[in-house]
Amino acid sequence: MNKRNIILVTAAAAILFVLYGQRAGWFKRSAHEAPSHVTFSLDQIKNKKNLVDIAVIGSGPAGWSAGLYGARLGNYTVVIDGNMPGGQLTRTSFIENWPGLSRVRGQAAMDHLAGQAKSFGAEELKDTVTSVDLHAWPYTIKTEDGHTLYAASIVVATGSSPRNVNIPGEMEFYGRGVSTCAICDAPFFKNKNAIVIGGGDSAAEEALQLAVYAKKVTVLVRKEAMRASYTMQQRLKAAHNVEILTEVEPERITGVDTVKAVEVRFKKTNELKVIQTDGFFIAIGHHPNTALFQGSQLLNEKGYIKVHAHTQETTMPGIFAAGDVEDDLYRQAGVAAGHGIAAGIDADRFLRDVGLSGKFRDTLKKGKAYFSDFYVERAEIATLPSLAAFNEQIANKKGIFVLDFAGKNCPSCKAMLPVVESAASRYAGKMTFFKVDIDEAKDLVMSLKVPKVPYIIVFKDGVRVAFFNGAMSRTEFFGHLNAILSQE
Ligand code: NDP
Repeated sequence: MNKRNIILVTAAAAILFVLYGQRAGWFKRSAHEAPSHVTFSLDQIKNKKNLVDIAVIGSGPAGWSAGLYGARLGNYTVVIDGNMPGGQLTRTSFIENWPGLSRVRGQAAMDHLAGQAKSFGAEELKDTVTSVDLHAWPYTIKTEDGHTLYAASIVVATGSSPRNVNIPGEMEFYGRGVSTCAICDAPFFKNKNAIVIGGGDSAAEEALQLAVYAKKVTVLVRKEAMRASYTMQQRLKAAHNVEILTEVEPERITGVDTVKAVEVRFKKTNELKVIQTDGFFIAIGHHPNTALFQGSQLLNEKGYIKVHAHTQETTMPGIFAAGDVEDDLYRQAGVAAGHGIAAGIDADRFLRDVGLSGKFRDTLKKGKAYFSDFYVERAEIATLPSLAAFNEQIANKKGIFVLDFAGKNCPSCKAMLPVVESAASRYAGKMTFFKVDIDEAKDLVMSLKVPKVPYIIVFKDGVRVAFFNGAMSRTEFFGHLNAILSQE
């Protein structure tokens, strides 16, 4: 082969290598580069049904802010609210650092934000996403209630979940003294002792909520000092019934039925001490909720969704992320809201870039191409007001009775109620459902030894046959009820 032929063959081989490598995904893509298998032509959506311009997954400050901007910019925007409607803010009491408001309840702030987004046309789907298919555009979203939505763009705002300590007893006593939500469970600690683990603002917040009810609250901090803000630390110091132990780590949670004690090791002296307690509250930070995207190119090495500098764009065109699912630095509700706003604007720009606006959108609207099936079958549930009512209607009666214990300030109870209501519709005639307000039916709560909320107890022919802790998805709850029915 002469020199010229060698050059030609080498050049041809290099071109083939690059072309094949791109198809096979050998080369790292930039944030804006579409994967070669995904194309973005309006032909791909013109005959689709159940379309959404912007699907927002998650309903915390980031999700509803994206919903607010997405809808206000004229896009058909659906916020799919997930297992904790309103997100983590609904689990705190008051917020004092939400810009523009000096003091507001977490739940009220989120209700207001959701209402504001809805006033501009954002829709809420009370459902949980089970899968997202990113292999073809429009992207396919499937939900727990069996909906399939085709999304021209997606804002991932799934937030984060509390981390576990991973010590013996933690899982065994979860919901029976071990908790991650003081606002839900603090009222059960009247004149009792509680331990809080963690040194950040969340731990301080949990301890202060518990201190209102508990005899004594002990905060376990692993370093020499807490990292909570100065203001929060000052408040803890001012609380007469809060003790802070530093350089200490829990080793084991023990109990009988419920938590009775925690073994802790003092790091400096290596001394092991047993602290008698009725509760162990975990507040040691969070991990991002990215299970839907495991194995995809969206995640960084820490498991957060990667976003491109100064935007909320991810490595996939049309997919944006906002809030705690992408932010491991600030983790503030206000920052999440700001990122949600940016994501809403980014999504709008993307939609305009692909031509999904103006006349084309009008054609879709006329052709009823947009998703509109927000109805979830539900039945109203009667309230059981007292122990006397329980004795009269359930204690000695044949049949299956499901009791849903809930508190007024408990966000997971709010999330659980629609699940129980749809079960009441689906299992009508097979079992009877009641809701119980723990502040109203105190005698029933005491008599049945309800340890926390939300809490479900199932009675069959007057006998307690099952109980379940915490909020559950429809699939999970229906699974439990089917198992009880199959025992007949
Ligand atoms: P942080 O990450 O701020 O704090 C976590 C704490 O848990 C740290 O003290 C850490 O210890 C400790 N920790 C982590 N792992 C373990 C372990 N295995 N054993 C024992 N201790 C452990 O999380 P937060 O949830 O407290 O806060 C998250 C963000 O939310 C922060 O930015 C915070 O400011 C904000 N926030 C604000 C509130 C407010 O303004 N009112 C309320 C709640 C949260 P170490 O210090 O040794 O790393």
